[in-house]
Amino acid sequence: MTPDDRVYAYSAVLMGSPILLKLFEHNESLASGVFRLIKHQENTFTVNRPHSDIMAINHAAGRDPVTVSAPVFELIRRAKAISCLPGSSFNFTIGPLVKCWKIGFSGHSIPAARDLQTLLALTNPEDVILDEQTRSVFLQQAGMEIDLGAIAKGYIADVVRDYLREQQVENALINLGGNVQTLGAGAEGAWAIGLKKPFSEPDTLIGVINVIGKSVVTSGIYERYFELEGHCYHHILDPKTGYPLDNELLSVTIISEDSIDGDIWTTLLYGMGVEKSLAYLEQIPHIEAIFVTRDGQIILSSQRQFTFTPLDDSYRITTY
Ligand code: ADP
Ligand code: MG
Repeated sequence: MTPDDRVYAYSAVLMGSPILLKLFEHNESLASGVFRLIKHQENTFTVNRPHSDIMAINHAAGRDPVTVSAPVFELIRRAKAISCLPGSSFNFTIGPLVKCWKIGFSGHSIPAARDLQTLLALTNPEDVILDEQTRSVFLQQAGMEIDLGAIAKGYIADVVRDYLREQQVENALINLGGNVQTLGAGAEGAWAIGLKKPFSEPDTLIGVINVIGKSVVTSGIYERYFELEGHCYHHILDPKTGYPLDNELLSVTIISEDSIDGDIWTTLLYGMGVEKSLAYLEQIPHIEAIFVTRDGQIILSSQRQFTFTPLDDSYRITTY
């Protein structure tokens, strides 16, 4: 028996993404438990359906505070804190702009500049009032909308990891489509996670990231985008301009303990660009990054928590 024969893979489509769970035992009921948990979380956080805990807050914008569960309040508190960091390119009140662009959904178009200006006024994270006592969330202006799309998958990946640990699982992998969280070392001494080649078939890789019990999150502009008149409009928006973030980056991957950190930092670093990010990461040893740039470079911030094997020699590798 080769080591891989011991791995059982379970899949489902949830949150609009293919979800993959790898276990080292044949355990249908554990796998259904995981998928049920993800579905429950999706129902809580989604803004792509009329009803969810987040939609209840959005529907009451400009009118009433809405009391939410402790985990939802905590996630919103965290999202607000990151959004309010000086110069942050992460903004959890970006909802009105996301809805207007419809990137990755049918009916996408380039909004009129004046419409974006109007909507930008509804994306001030300071206008979200949190009350710890009542655990309520109030969007001060009518038309405001919370969107946790940049953080929810990371949060949910950690929830799944914690659930698996509670079930005494020591070796497993969950892939929520761009967000991978792992327990243990897989079958061959470390889990191998592919780094996708931008704008290519999903199984074309430019490298492999090996981790033990870490999270690997990649956010790339090639994940959801549309093209018009030679321009690529992707799904990570610049909260200052309302247009997709535009710099030298094609993707940012974060290796960290918690997947929520990976999700937060991919968006933050996207906005900073390579140079600023590398300087910033020197102060944060538990967050490590891999950048893929438009000019064919793979740039690694440091490699304390992972190893990287390049697979495509048309890319230039730079290590810091
Ligand atoms: P994915 O894994 O789907 O690529 P990301 O973690 O890259 O998701 O987050 C992208 C999603 O976050 C968008 O689809 C949108 O819902 C939301 N979003 C877009 N721009 C921002 C931003 N600047 N700050 C916070 N959320 C954003
Ligand atoms: Mg993210």
